[in-house]
Amino acid sequence: MKQRTKIGRERNLTIRVKIWLFFMMFVCIVFVLMWTFQVLFLERFYEAFKVSDIANTAKTLSALYGTDDFYDKAQEIAISNEACIEILNVDGKEQYFYCVSNGSCLLHGENNNTYFFLMDLKGSDAGYICRSVFNQRLQTQTLVYGTSMSNYAIDFDGYIFINSRLVPVQSTVSILQRQTMIITVALVFFGMVLSFLVATTIGTPINRITRSAKRLAHGDYKIEFEGGGCAEVDELAETLTYAQQELSKTDEMQRDLIANVSHDMRTPLTMMKAYAEMIRDLSGNNPVKREQHLNIIIEETDRLSSLVNDMLDLSKLESGTQKLDCSEFDIAERLQEIAYRYQGISEQMGYHLNFTPDSSRIVYCDAGKIERVICNLIHNAINYTSKEDKQVFLRQINKPDSVRIEIQDTGDGIEEDKIKLIFDKYYRSENHKREVVGTGLGLSIVKAILKMHNYDYGVNSKLGEGSVFWFEIRTNFDDLK
Ligand code: ADP
Repeated sequence: MKQRTKIGRERNLTIRVKIWLFFMMFVCIVFVLMWTFQVLFLERFYEAFKVSDIANTAKTLSALYGTDDFYDKAQEIAISNEACIEILNVDGKEQYFYCVSNGSCLLHGENNNTYFFLMDLKGSDAGYICRSVFNQRLQTQTLVYGTSMSNYAIDFDGYIFINSRLVPVQSTVSILQRQTMIITVALVFFGMVLSFLVATTIGTPINRITRSAKRLAHGDYKIEFEGGGCAEVDELAETLTYAQQELSKTDEMQRDLIANVSHDMRTPLTMMKAYAEMIRDLSGNNPVKREQHLNIIIEETDRLSSLVNDMLDLSKLESGTQKLDCSEFDIAERLQEIAYRYQGISEQMGYHLNFTPDSSRIVYCDAGKIERVICNLIHNAINYTSKEDKQVFLRQINKPDSVRIEIQDTGDGIEEDKIKLIFDKYYRSENHKREVVGTGLGLSIVKAILKMHNYDYGVNSKLGEGSVFWFEIRTNFDDLK
């Protein structure tokens, strides 16, 4: 009977029951085979073996006939097989005989029926006869085998007859019947014990893993998946442990994300609300103040919309829905344009962008996205560069196989252990005040774009001296085409 699981699927039988059923099936098959071969068909098998045995003996004796060791061998074969042997020439005259039953067999003594068997053989199309005949004198069933024989070595043609006793198998059958019953009972018992042991070895760790998985489903990420029993179960436990770690990370990231996003959204929203209330209650009639407050609201709206835009862009980049729109262009020219744009507004913001160009170089990549990378890095450099000298450097360095772009600032630098974190989503150093901190997604977007292009990137930073963010645009761009 199949039951329904919680999610509506039909539940299969438990491992324990299945293994037990398989074992019992095996026991039944063994029982049927033993019964069939050992009990029901024993007599037929015995006769078939005996016939093939006696035919082989006749063949061996025919081949040996005429050789020096024939007599010794014939005697040996006759005794070991309890068989009487009779060899006749083509005229039916006896050439050799050996009797193991003192004339009580069907070939020799009073029972001499050789003549009839010879007639029988001569009339047979098969070239041999094999008759099961009851021997009245010995009160036992016997087998008479006769075939024509030729021995070219001594130029002899004739007939060979062998009469062998058939041992009654009925008593053996009843012994085997009892034996089969005992073996079957033993098999059922050991089958049960073994199936229990196998099921326990496999089933117990699986049950344990299932219990842990249920706890995991309820959000308990501290549970451990223990294997045991067999390699497959160990592997299952390892895979689930890995899944659990990944889930736990995702859960943590999700919590961080919600915390960060809600924090980032709440701050501008609170500001917007506060300033809107101020305009309503206080500065509504004061054009100068109102202007100031409205500007703050606009700034906060911009901040909010850039956060939302960054989130959307990053999710598009990471989900793979955005494809690269690659084209060939001169990177030197593009850098010049970017530098020019930033230099134009640098005076206004009080920093200085120093651009070190190199000779022109054609690259093949998504110009818009690479520009975004450069702008994000310049933007960060402006935000984090030293407040005293306010210098930012943009460099183009042509290398044999690539163009290296460097963006340097003279700020506080980044601690060694933080370097690998800054490219993570929403990572933000605690040292930075909110005014200089953007959405926390800039470097994640940089990373996603550079990864899509398969470009090398990194950051060299010294505390107190500033940082150099770099990436290399490969000029061998076959893989992007
Ligand atoms: P944010 O919008 O906060 O700048 P980013 O993803 O661009 O987000 O940067 C992540 C963090 O990396 C920043 O909060 C800052 O701590 C650090 N960081 C980025 N660029 C620099 C830099 N040029 N100098 C020092 N720290 C930096």
